[in-house]
Amino acid sequence: MRRVKIIATIGPKTESEAMMKKLAEAGMNIARINLSHGTHGWISETVSKIKKISSQSQFPIGIMFDTQGPEIRTSATEYGLEAGDLFKIAVSSACDIQEGEKHTFVDYQNLINKVKKNDIVMIDNGLIALKVIDIGPYHINCRVLNKGSLGKTKSINMPGIRTDLPSVTDKDIKDLRLGARLGMDYVAQSFVRRKEDILQMRKLLARLKSNAMVIAKIEDQEGVENMNEIINEADGVMVARGDLGVEIPIEEIPLVQKQMVDKCIEAGKPVIIATHLLESMITHPMPTRAEVTDVANAVFEKADCIMLSGETTKGEYPIECVSTMHRIAKSTQKRLTFNPGRGFKTKDVMEAITFGACIGAENLDAKAIIAFSRTGKLLSMVAKRRPNVDIFVFTDSKEAKRKMMIYWSAFPFLINFDENFELMTKKAIGMLQQKKFLVKGDRAIIISDVNPRKDTEILEIREI
Ligand code: PEP
Repeated sequence: MRRVKIIATIGPKTESEAMMKKLAEAGMNIARINLSHGTHGWISETVSKIKKISSQSQFPIGIMFDTQGPEIRTSATEYGLEAGDLFKIAVSSACDIQEGEKHTFVDYQNLINKVKKNDIVMIDNGLIALKVIDIGPYHINCRVLNKGSLGKTKSINMPGIRTDLPSVTDKDIKDLRLGARLGMDYVAQSFVRRKEDILQMRKLLARLKSNAMVIAKIEDQEGVENMNEIINEADGVMVARGDLGVEIPIEEIPLVQKQMVDKCIEAGKPVIIATHLLESMITHPMPTRAEVTDVANAVFEKADCIMLSGETTKGEYPIECVSTMHRIAKSTQKRLTFNPGRGFKTKDVMEAITFGACIGAENLDAKAIIAFSRTGKLLSMVAKRRPNVDIFVFTDSKEAKRKMMIYWSAFPFLINFDENFELMTKKAIGMLQQKKFLVKGDRAIIISDVNPRKDTEILEIREI
């Protein structure tokens, strides 16, 4: 089984049920909806298609809602831009637009007070750079610095400039109300800069009665500086390299990525590496060799998930992107090794049994770790040790089962927990044998926090 999970963003090229089914068959584990695009009608339809396909798949497909957050986006205008062109950013419908004038509207009036003459404005993750030449009451006039093609609703970054948009916007509230109703599993929260941003999101989710996991997207300098408190507060983290690449010096991305992945693993929080993993496959059937190595590097770093964005929303080869990622990951993981670290000591029972399970699996050549985990806590503790085996996890909650898809090497099943641990274990092993995940003679390490004998956590080694 593949250890790293694949997240694919759904968009115009993959919105049909047939295409989503192909994505799932190619290896998509989590479907992401980017809330910066798409109407609520489209989102509802898309979620119901994902749920249908999920119910037909061997393992569930998690549903991730990715907020727009305090991000400024262009309107639906589309242009081919040339270096030297004039380009107007209008902040209000009161702005006077002349016939033929290249322009876009943004939903942030205070932009005119935030930028100064000669500031640089980046569009579409830095693909188009503009220089501010003058500022009016309802607009900013810019000079285009490089040729580019401006698509609809593209992100606008102003490196080093802090907007005063709230961390959770009115649009986010409306979008997440829908997400809560539709049963989203994860909220990817855009532009998390400090732990208070996550606390605000948690308050909103509590009000909406959603148990979705909060995945903090770290995508600017402030977020990078506060990564420790963010990792501590969030349920998981996304290394959002698209925005990061324009918000911090681009050459710092590899180190920041490595640092974030290591810290998340240490904290037992799932970590996602996002953006540009197979960017060239938007228009080409084959990735660049550097992209292949980037995906492999994410596997070597032992990230929980790797994510596709434009590749699967607007690209010509969405299914090939997922299958290519799958093949690179499977090939690369052959060289992964379990690294127990040195001098592990703990008085915590759960830490002890999860660590013991990983050491046992490694030393005894076990085929799998079988975990009975009600909420996913035990799973997170065993996955954080990155054992080089499949983790088959059994829960009695459909919701927990879907959320478990985000963890490294975790493959969840539904089971009714039984007071009789022996009976429950036999049932679980029977299910795994029936699906040929285990065969006679295989060794498996079993751990449980389901606590059948009330005050006992369990660690067992079994031969099938
Ligand atoms: C990113 O910036 O890498 C990212 C995933 O965010 P967005 O939602 O802007 O694509």
